[in-house]
Amino acid sequence: MTAPLSQSDLKALQSLIDWWDQAGVETAPVSPAEVRAARPAPTARGEAPRAVPPRATAAAARAAGYGGAPEQNARDIAAKCDTLDALKAAVEAFEGCPLKATATQAAFARGNPEARVMVIGEAPGREEDREGKPFVGVAGQLLDRMLAAIGLDETSAYITNVVFWRPPGNRKPTDAEIESCRPFTERHIELVKPDFIVLAGGISAQTLLRQRAGITQMRGKWAELTVDDRSIPALPVFHPAFLLRRPQEKAKAWADLLSLKGRLGAQS
Ligand code: URA
Repeated sequence: MTAPLSQSDLKALQSLIDWWDQAGVETAPVSPAEVRAARPAPTARGEAPRAVPPRATAAAARAAGYGGAPEQNARDIAAKCDTLDALKAAVEAFEGCPLKATATQAAFARGNPEARVMVIGEAPGREEDREGKPFVGVAGQLLDRMLAAIGLDETSAYITNVVFWRPPGNRKPTDAEIESCRPFTERHIELVKPDFIVLAGGISAQTLLRQRAGITQMRGKWAELTVDDRSIPALPVFHPAFLLRRPQEKAKAWADLLSLKGRLGAQS
């Protein structure tokens, strides 16, 4: 049995959490089981390592009645959604992503679905889980400032994630969790029909561009994202949470934002 934490242990823990908060690391009290389930932190180069889906996740998917292939079920459901409201309702009712069991609610999207720019991040954190909207925590505030720097806001950008539920303790989502949400994300893009997509962070860029390279290699290089036979220019950028940890990389993020601004201006 583990000994209970003393007052001074608790104080030390609290100041560690406070320090993480100030440094922009989105934290939440995590259980030892969550810590064990957590995937490795991003590398020093800003690349988010992808883990092989743990057996527990596949088992959870089977237990949820999806026979280990929730993405097929999700694709059928997503294909039937002809509006964003229908898609949001379908995501909220979906049982095929094991993260739903530990999250408070889905964080579907915020911003203007008519916007020319769609920003796609990784997964909700603590604040997003609480509010049911993506990018409303400290990383979201930086994202808003980044967008504002090139004249964009909630009326001119639409913001979502590749995963709709918060992974426990803000660990990286597993491949199985990401794949279970992919059909909804792809349908999301089809329905929004943005002119440009910003892929915030390695997980988002790797998932949607189906690449294994790290974000350090991908960032700033325009790619084409083909959804429903339509090719949409997509720009991988550093994730704002990474920029909070590595502010010295903000110059590269600024260059990427200027590249987006250039394309927006050229096409307006
Ligand atoms: N990080 C993300 O990738 N998405 C959010 O919604 C919040 C933090």
